[in-house]
Amino acid sequence: MIISMRRGATREEIDHVCDRIREFGYKVHSIEGEQRVVIGAVGVGDVTACLESLEAIPSVERAVRISVPYKFVSREFKKEHSVIHVNGLEVGGDEFIVMAGPCSVENERQIMETAESVAAAGARMLRGGAFKPRTSPYDFQGLELEGLKLLQQAKQRTGLAIVTEVMSDGDVDLVAEHADMLQIGARNMQNFALLKKLGRCGRPILLKRGMSSTIKELLMSAEYIVAHGNPNVVLCERGIRTFETATRNTCDIAAVPVLNELTHLPVILDPSHAVGKRSLVPALCRAAAAVGADGLIVEVHPCPEKAVSDGAQSLTLQQFHATMNELRPYLELWKESRVSAFAAAV
Ligand code: PEP
Ligand code: MN
Repeated sequence: MIISMRRGATREEIDHVCDRIREFGYKVHSIEGEQRVVIGAVGVGDVTACLESLEAIPSVERAVRISVPYKFVSREFKKEHSVIHVNGLEVGGDEFIVMAGPCSVENERQIMETAESVAAAGARMLRGGAFKPRTSPYDFQGLELEGLKLLQQAKQRTGLAIVTEVMSDGDVDLVAEHADMLQIGARNMQNFALLKKLGRCGRPILLKRGMSSTIKELLMSAEYIVAHGNPNVVLCERGIRTFETATRNTCDIAAVPVLNELTHLPVILDPSHAVGKRSLVPALCRAAAAVGADGLIVEVHPCPEKAVSDGAQSLTLQQFHATMNELRPYLELWKESRVSAFAAAV
């Protein structure tokens, strides 16, 4: 069960509700947000009697039974699609948000040139790794703080919001100081110490699906972040491991509509890591719009053959412009279907 307290509920009122929940045999997990307190009741007990009792308490706004293990992120908990605010942008709102930029921040010239070009093409956020999760310890590991500063400079110049990866709980505060949105990479989707730390980082999160993780596991990881105090999570499908070798990963395009049924959180697609090959990226960008994703995160590099990471899947600046142009009619349809989905939900 999830119990939402009324705004401004006092400590005594919250404690009273927690005591009642415990009397019915449940364990209490309360989330004290800035605006309101939400209490999760987990365990085995008489659900109907407990719900009836709680609903009779004036400080309780709503008490609902949630059958799935990912409580706060489920559609059962919240019917309306969530809108996540990132530096004035709305992810999950009525704009399809495109995030673009290099795999890694390499130097000033590379990031500035990319930022200016992707902004002119219609991207709204700049991506670029300053802390890089690399399979080999001998590969480029990222510019770290210098990379974060370069991203900030690029934001100042272009107005693009910044999304960048954080790999360890010890770096969360540093990355949160420099970025508008923190990216959790596929390899860290189940780094629970990191997920817990994100609960209090004060920034929205882009949570990427682990390459061998189920949709349920992705939602449970999102639940960690929300349960620890941060409701601002955007999910990202980035391809999963299968027996197929024609692409770097297999793009689970169905994950987008599946997630849209199961959760109210916005979902974006990363076609670059999903396929690993630039010629395939534009088609998947169009697919993302067609299946109702809330946006894209795409790798773009001014000279992919010189990229220190993921050159083969990075679009050139010109290819990114062409991709955005090709996307336009699909985005018109996307907008129409979004308007009718909102109308149906009302
Ligand atoms: C990236 O975005 O460059 C990245 C490392 O992605 P993923 O975590 O999905 O592999
Ligand atoms: Mn990459």
